[in-house]
Amino acid sequence: VYCRVRPLSFPDQECCIEVINNTTVQLHTPEGYRLNRNGDFKETQYSFKQVFGTHTTQKELFDVVASPLVDDLIHGKNGLLFTYGVTGSGKTHTMTGSPGEGGLLPRCLDMIFNSIGSFQAKRYFADMINVQEFCKAEEVDEDSVYGVFVSYIEIYNNYIYDLLEEVPFDPIKPKWNSCSTPMRNTDFVPPQSKLLREDKNHNMYVAGCTEVEVKSTEEAFEVFWRGQKKRRIANTHLNRESSRSHSVFNIKLVQAPLDADGDTVLQEKEQITISQLSLVDLAGSERTNRTRAEGNRLREAGEQSIVLIYCYSFQKLVMPVYYVLFSGRF
Ligand code: ADP
Ligand code: MG
Repeated sequence: VYCRVRPLSFPDQECCIEVINNTTVQLHTPEGYRLNRNGDFKETQYSFKQVFGTHTTQKELFDVVASPLVDDLIHGKNGLLFTYGVTGSGKTHTMTGSPGEGGLLPRCLDMIFNSIGSFQAKRYFADMINVQEFCKAEEVDEDSVYGVFVSYIEIYNNYIYDLLEEVPFDPIKPKWNSCSTPMRNTDFVPPQSKLLREDKNHNMYVAGCTEVEVKSTEEAFEVFWRGQKKRRIANTHLNRESSRSHSVFNIKLVQAPLDADGDTVLQEKEQITISQLSLVDLAGSERTNRTRAEGNRLREAGEQSIVLIYCYSFQKLVMPVYYVLFSGRF
């Protein structure tokens, strides 16, 4: 478990977290909340594998937290990375980032394609990553070919949605313009939830979930943005609170060896290695509302477990990396 402390939004805000050293933080009870019945208050310290202070750059964080997972992925091992924390603590900033400050997700994609795709033309998308930040895994098997597939799901209220699903044109409800010619139906079509199923090896998977093959960082990131857009539109139309949903972006790497001459891909199933890295941006960890009905709270607990069942089971994880963020305020 790693901890990243985000900067305060305003310099005069009261800060309740102090980084003691690179593995420990101390929580300070804010003024006004200090006195309990005995007149004293508790100062608690928490230890992590590593603590990243407010000046940590996206690149520094990626190098420590995520690049070992990409290295594992390229060498056939599965991985899972969560961001966890209250709304506003910097989960999405850490996972996705912004132009000029790309987060873990675009950096993972970039490292994958830098490592496996030396034959592909190198282009850099937007300015999420710049050339100086080039990152590559060592010892990539040059006698293999690699394919990258991504999928992107959202979990809201215990339902799973495929964010990459192409919604088909609805033939029952065509729209007509004033000249009586049919127009493209641009009405919002509510997303259909997907089922979680178990395969014969007891791996959980989302039935019918779209997987898109991508050939470059840009293409993968474009697919990600397509999913993000869909998520935003659905949230607006259905009046959902985006901080209450979890999102899981999966990167699947398929490695198939070439024959002795190096020109034919060997198709035998046993020879193909599939590894997957799941990048999870969890819903805000706060209780939404203290007066919320019991049933809803139970449902929220259930939702966290869907994410866990899905990811853990699929990954057959040896050691999940659980990544924690703190907000500088309570
Ligand atoms: P969450 O996804 O946990 O709700 P966000 O990632 O949306 O939180 O962060 C909330 C705000 O704080 C955003 O405006 C974001 O840019 C800013 N922020 C979060 N972490 C950092 C950081 N480490 N450095 C600078 N700004 C940050
Ligand atoms: Mg967020």
